[in-house]
Amino acid sequence: MGKKMISVIVPCYNEQEVLPMFRTEILNVADEMTKKYPGLEFEFLFINDGSADGTLELLRKYSEMDCRFRYVSFSRNFGKESAMLAGLENCRGDYAVILDADLQHPPSYIPKMYEYVSNGEYDCAATRRVSRKGEPKLLSFFSASFYKVINKISQTRIVDGAQDFRFMTRQMVDAILSMKEYNRFSKGIFSWVGFKTKYIEVENTERAAGKTTWSFWKLLMYSFEGITAFSTAPLYLSVIMGLVFLVLAVAMAVKTLICGEDMSGDNLIVTLVCLIGGVQLFCMGVLGQYIAKTYMEVKGRPRYIIGETEEIYRQRRTKND
Ligand code: UDP
Ligand code: MG
Repeated sequence: MGKKMISVIVPCYNEQEVLPMFRTEILNVADEMTKKYPGLEFEFLFINDGSADGTLELLRKYSEMDCRFRYVSFSRNFGKESAMLAGLENCRGDYAVILDADLQHPPSYIPKMYEYVSNGEYDCAATRRVSRKGEPKLLSFFSASFYKVINKISQTRIVDGAQDFRFMTRQMVDAILSMKEYNRFSKGIFSWVGFKTKYIEVENTERAAGKTTWSFWKLLMYSFEGITAFSTAPLYLSVIMGLVFLVLAVAMAVKTLICGEDMSGDNLIVTLVCLIGGVQLFCMGVLGQYIAKTYMEVKGRPRYIIGETEEIYRQRRTKND
């Protein structure tokens, strides 16, 4: 029987500072595991998401030193969602595990995840943050509210604190890849495809080096992305609000007609105009979000463009020699 391969997928955006540390750690884990399970082998697939620092040079060096190190380098920054997708699309393993380069997802969890999945009990093992130590209070509050809202209005259950650190079977990878949508919100996609998932509870770990690229604003936009990608409830909300105001307006007009009152008072008019104008704008905004998404889907653009891989690099160099 051939060996079973684990593909380690690592999205990297300006990670030159932590990559050497990450490499040491992941190699330790891989050595330990291949000693314990001789039928296992590894590939390390790094996705260079248009880094502006020396990340690509490091990846080139690693892949020259050890053929288990592969990389896909984007032609520019396409975002972590695209990087994860590229990883899943280009990996060759029987299992795939996605983790961050900054050691916030400790590679030492991989053996435990492998055990859960390889004995056939689970299809996927993921970590779930149970504490938000070291995170700004306001951010924690917004994150908690986001999970509450999305789980109320979407049929897809999204586990609070679930991270992108996931170990899964080839079946699950293929299921994820069968979802062709452009607007990808992985947390939703992972749970939409189903499969039995074991959540391992972890404490929050801080970045080993470098700095995060997620600002509060980026996270807020990302949460909105999640809601509109996995729920059409805001559309209904705007319909209902529109209806309520319509009924209200008709009732007021009828009352004025029947009672013969004069609906005077500039204030009343101004308030009403503002109110209705506001509601309309809000509804249009929500509608616009969905139209924008449909527009992007219809265009069918690729989620990322590959600039270089270890193979392309090798071929280019042998031609020059
Ligand atoms: N990342 C990426 N593309 C981006 C931003 C981030 O591939 O546009 C990668 C980054 O290199 C890291 C992971 O995604 O491996 C998580 O990013 P980060 O640590 O900045 O996010 P946080 O841990 O703060 O959520
Ligand atoms: Mg991080």
